[in-house]
Amino acid sequence: MGWVIPRLLEKCSEANGIYFDSVSQVVLPAWSKGRVVLIGDACHCVSLVAGQGASLAVAGAYVLYQELTRPGSTLAAALAPVSEKIDTCR
Ligand SMILES: Cc1cc2nc3c(=O)[nH]c(=O)nc-3n(C[C@H](O)[C@H](O)[C@H](O)COP(=O)(O)OP(=O)(O)OC[C@H]3O[C@@H](n4cnc5c(N)ncnc54)[C@H](O)[C@@H]3O)c2cc1C
Repeated sequence: MGWVIPRLLEKCSEANGIYFDSVSQVVLPAWSKGRVVLIGDACHCVSLVAGQGASLAVAGAYVLYQELTRPGSTLAAALAPVSEKIDTCR
């Protein structure tokens, strides 16, 4: 961010108002429990400047679809691998 910070600081004195907020990420040991699985923004919390949130949400939905439609799969059996695969792309 070094390339933009000096410019931002320079513009601060001219601005009428400044919006400032923080972004936090909560890391859980698993992203599914029982019949619930978190995908997309609910678990990835990708950096606001990355521009990858939509891709990760679609990838999570695709992995969920694959596991749920696996022949003989049950809901409980399907959600654990989704949680693990989500962890690898975080
Ligand atoms: C300003 C801005 C710019 C962005 N630009 C980009 C970009 O350039 N590229 C990119 O890849 N990503 C971008 N993103 C991020 C991207 O939009 C998100 O990462 C993505 O939409 C996440 O999808 P999601 O389905 O997880 O969540 P969401 O899109 O937030 O979908 C969640 C849905 O759940 C609904 N909902 C919430 N609570 C309930 C409830 N209790 N009952 C029923 N429904 C509920 C909400 O109304 C919403 O429709 C941007 C985000 C913002 C805010």
